[in-house]
Amino acid sequence: MKDKLLVLIINDMVIFPNNEVRIEYDNTYDKQMIDIVDRIDDNLMLIVNPIGDAITNVTSFPKIGVLGRLKLKMNVPNGKTRIVIEGIERVKLSSFVEEGNYFKADYDEVEIEETKEDSDYFNLLVKSLENYISKVPYMGNAIMSQLNGTKNLNDLCDLIVSFLPISYENKKRYITTISPIERAKFLIEDMRRDLKFAELEQKIEAEVEKELDDTQKEYFLREKIRLMQKELGEGHNKDEEVEQISKKIAKLKCNAKVKEKIRRELDRYDSSNINSPELGMIRDYLDWMLHLPWGIYTKDTNDLKKVKSILDSSHYALEEVKDRILEYLAVKQNTNNLRSPILCLVGPPGVGKTSLALSIAKSLNRKTAKISVGGINDEAEIVGHRRTYIGSIPGRIIQGIRKAGTANPVFIIDEIDKMTKDIKGDPASSLLEVLDPEQNNKFSDHYIEEEFDLSKVMFIATANYVEQIPYELRDRLEIIEISSYTEFEKLDIAKNHLIPKELEEHGLTSLQVQVEDEAILTMIRNYTKEAGVRELERVIATLFRKIVKNLLLNQDMAFYQIDSSKLEEFLGKKKYVYMENDMNEEVGVVNGMAYTIFGGDILPIEATLFKGKGDLILTGSLGEVMQESCRIALNYIKSNMEQFGIDSQLLDEHDIHIHVPEGAVNKDGPSAGVTITTTLISLFTNKKVPKTVAMTGEITLRGRVLGIGGLKEKVIGSHRAGVKTIYIPAENEKDLDEIPEEIKKDIRFIAVHHYKEIFDSLFKSGEK
Ligand code: ADP
Repeated sequence: MKDKLLVLIINDMVIFPNNEVRIEYDNTYDKQMIDIVDRIDDNLMLIVNPIGDAITNVTSFPKIGVLGRLKLKMNVPNGKTRIVIEGIERVKLSSFVEEGNYFKADYDEVEIEETKEDSDYFNLLVKSLENYISKVPYMGNAIMSQLNGTKNLNDLCDLIVSFLPISYENKKRYITTISPIERAKFLIEDMRRDLKFAELEQKIEAEVEKELDDTQKEYFLREKIRLMQKELGEGHNKDEEVEQISKKIAKLKCNAKVKEKIRRELDRYDSSNINSPELGMIRDYLDWMLHLPWGIYTKDTNDLKKVKSILDSSHYALEEVKDRILEYLAVKQNTNNLRSPILCLVGPPGVGKTSLALSIAKSLNRKTAKISVGGINDEAEIVGHRRTYIGSIPGRIIQGIRKAGTANPVFIIDEIDKMTKDIKGDPASSLLEVLDPEQNNKFSDHYIEEEFDLSKVMFIATANYVEQIPYELRDRLEIIEISSYTEFEKLDIAKNHLIPKELEEHGLTSLQVQVEDEAILTMIRNYTKEAGVRELERVIATLFRKIVKNLLLNQDMAFYQIDSSKLEEFLGKKKYVYMENDMNEEVGVVNGMAYTIFGGDILPIEATLFKGKGDLILTGSLGEVMQESCRIALNYIKSNMEQFGIDSQLLDEHDIHIHVPEGAVNKDGPSAGVTITTTLISLFTNKKVPKTVAMTGEITLRGRVLGIGGLKEKVIGSHRAGVKTIYIPAENEKDLDEIPEEIKKDIRFIAVHHYKEIFDSLFKSGEK
């Protein structure tokens, strides 16, 4: 029996023999610990862990504890005290006495018997441990190197248990159980259970991973990085950070309510545990709130002339849009608080919608934001996800505003005609809230939760087709249509905008390269097929790139004059050839006119007949409406055979096949009605229709010809294809005003009310 020693009661950790524990405490820490450490004799103490509830008197002490030695005690700079206690051995405790506020006890060695079976358990335990470490991801194998010095089962058990991630309650029984074999059995059992958990956890993680969508995955990865950085000591100092954020909040120009909200979040951040998964989410939220441009506005240029000159120098024509911007500015200068117009530029790709919007921003001295809503089917994309959703972020509007960095940017919303609606909601109606000047000064994103004023933003939407813009939105927008460019317009754009711009971008000057007009026209006709000038811009860039290379390689050649004959050398073979071999007219082939994403084009329709029973065969991926047009055309002809001079037997004894080549182009709409009718009459009467003729118009069963859309584009396309005569519905005669003079002068337009007029003109009088 040894002399009495002070007893240190520990409630939250177990110190095993041969194990060292480092504890750091400040003045507010457990008083018992502070006093005992100060009063200790010989640095020795008895460490006990209470069995049940707190120890209140000498009878409730456990009978087994650990003899411990205070190895180190030092004051560390942050006002704390650090001690290191080493466990020496298990001891039996007896004769507890209370001395003032402390307990003392006698102690005696615990005798540990060695048995024959010890070595079997020793080996079994080592094997189990190896298996455990290899399978449980969070166990490092540092423990293995310590095993070497361990000779007996008793020490081995104490060593392993101090490494295992088991609960405090569970650990206590390892102190009070004396038999090493018993403890070895506990250990094997505990490791086995933990292994099972780890396996289960891995399985669940794998399953969860599969189900996580991309944003959530990103969130988890970020969290992992954050934790790893913390482990590596690269993490940040939270207190410092809180202080910095607090300073930033003070500087924000948001209203008091928002400020209060951000402060509250900062408090939450401050008080959250560094390991809490919430912490990252709050941090992200704070980050968004701090970086939104609350109350930050740029000042619009007031100089109308300057605005006009910037717009004119960046974009050819497009007068309507430019005028609208100037009007807006003019009225704004006259009044005070004018709402921005919500413009929507509609037209085929590459006609300058987006670039014009960017240059509007530049001319007004505003920042820009640009998002695309094409393909969006979820309103959360517009107004954000609620913060309860893992990995949630604000919607695209707030994202755009943050990028722009001001609360009055020019905000470009691309592809407003390509949103879809489904069970996730209707993004169009969310967008309506964003655009509606009555509501958008209080725009509320689900993630941000606080209102953000969008009323000073100038929204410019873009779309390819007016008809596809959701109806409720169309109502709010000032739609400005931009149509395809004619060859001559493209020539102008190339000469005055694209070529100077590309020369500069390639570090060239007009003293080194000159491109002749006919070469530009060849590029337009044979190297591009588009409504706008995007491809043309690319072709010009390719040309200049090759020239720069040549200039550097062959230094003798200092000037390049580019005419058509040189184009193949730089651009390769011509990609598009229009109508060149196609001028041979045939029976049963007639030119219709199409309006596609590339602008207008001719759309030849073919028909043949062969022995059969009067069936109608249609090919060429025709849409439903176009198939109907074929049946209407055929039946109209059948009911007027005599008038058209067609033998009635012909139709009874033959099948008819109608085909519209270029199967890849989606063909639909009723405007091919007159063309199909003409093709069939040509076939049945064996009379050819010249290739220089084209026509467009819907036909009714009685032969009336109805109006169509996209005439300008169709005419431009047909003109390019060499057409000289065009039949149009009388209803569309008014649209001829829009067609550029240089095209009108080459084409004869014949406006008709009834198909008979086309028949008479083409087949009766032999008119070409
Ligand atoms: P969209 O948005 O209509 O698809 P972009 O604005 O992207 O077309 O235009 C494509 C390219 O064509 C841009 O580089 C732009 O500068 C040029 N461009 C288009 N229209 C014009 C024009 N009227 N004047 C000058 N450049 C133009």
